[in-house]
Amino acid sequence: MTLLLKGARPYGEDAVDILVKDGVIAAIGESLSTTADTIDATGLVVLPGLVDLHTHLREPGREDTETVLTGSRAAALGGFTAVHAMANTDPVADTAGVVEQVWRLGNDAGLVDVVPVGAVTVGLGGEQLAELGAMADSAARVRVFSDDGKCVSDPALMRRALEYVKALDGVVAQHAEEPRLTVGAQMHEGDRSARLGLTGWPAVAEEAIIARDVLLAEHVGARLHVCHVSTAGSVELIRWAKSRGVQVTAEVTPHHLLLTDAQAEGYDATFKVNPPLRTAEDVAALRAGLADGTIDAVATDHAPHAGEDKECEWSAARPGMLGLEQALSVVVDTMVDTGLLTWREVADRMSVRPAQIGRLAGQGRPIAVGEPANLVLLDPSARAVVDPAALASKSRNSPYAGRELPARVVHTLLRGELSVLDGKVQK
Ligand SMILES: [Zn+2]
Repeated sequence: MTLLLKGARPYGEDAVDILVKDGVIAAIGESLSTTADTIDATGLVVLPGLVDLHTHLREPGREDTETVLTGSRAAALGGFTAVHAMANTDPVADTAGVVEQVWRLGNDAGLVDVVPVGAVTVGLGGEQLAELGAMADSAARVRVFSDDGKCVSDPALMRRALEYVKALDGVVAQHAEEPRLTVGAQMHEGDRSARLGLTGWPAVAEEAIIARDVLLAEHVGARLHVCHVSTAGSVELIRWAKSRGVQVTAEVTPHHLLLTDAQAEGYDATFKVNPPLRTAEDVAALRAGLADGTIDAVATDHAPHAGEDKECEWSAARPGMLGLEQALSVVVDTMVDTGLLTWREVADRMSVRPAQIGRLAGQGRPIAVGEPANLVLLDPSARAVVDPAALASKSRNSPYAGRELPARVVHTLLRGELSVLDGKVQK
């Protein structure tokens, strides 16, 4: 298959034509011509296809809220060409069999590369290491291991997990939450939680685990990845660890870059999430950390939930919110339109670095001749109000409902094939 993209702007720079042939970028230049299909990409910014380190696809187990196919559609529409599927499914992805099942479902959907994350401990139980080597050696080639949703809180077990993944060239992605400090927690601990009468989730519960884990990673000489960093103190700890040469990377979610704990005022459980939305000072520190590279990546923590698990009393609701379809728009809103990131830096934080952290050889590559044609083309001047009913996800728990956001994904290409054409998913 051959396709010519006319007048696209790589990294927002000068317009060029990009010829895609047999899954790779075959030529880049001015006034290229072809007898094959041509797409008018005038004015569109083209970036390497986005890579998400943190997606909950809910299959197997909760196919009523999302499947690998519906989540793949949402991802492609968001401009992603690869997503890491978190392990907290039912059954848990803690064996070669389950990760291969998810990997095959992703191949069958064929819209994005679905990269399974393997659980660190059996059943996310936090007591016994899962078969990390078997998952790494499986067809799914697992390199990212996480008990996300739960913290690997036992320090001896965390140390052993780091030792194992080091030998596999893998990484432990830690959901940093000291469970003894968050019993019954409902929202960020502060003045507002006291006034609203909701049990607080203190910043120190996240920071204490990050401090411990960067020291363990340094001691073992292994790679550590910190999921969904949410506090200013966490950014400081990671900055300090990197300055010491610790092999630590970190991600921030779109919602933590945009929203604050003020969203809890209306008791709308759409805004209940773990870790919780924090203060405006935390949001500013997260944006600064992403801008200066202390935080390596944006990851969605896309967490679909059924209506009955969200349209209920705050304390009974499940934590989590949708993210795949609006991630790029939120990053444009919070980081590009504010002058904090260039388009090339957006590509770095949303494609290049996440692909490196996940050891995905064919993703996060430069827009250059001979490279895989994993691309997203977006209209930076478009603006739209988010309508949850129009989302491809099977769930509706978007924290951006009714909010106007900039930028629209127009086309997405996975190895030269259009997964999204003119804003419409192709499968
Ligand atoms: Zn988590």
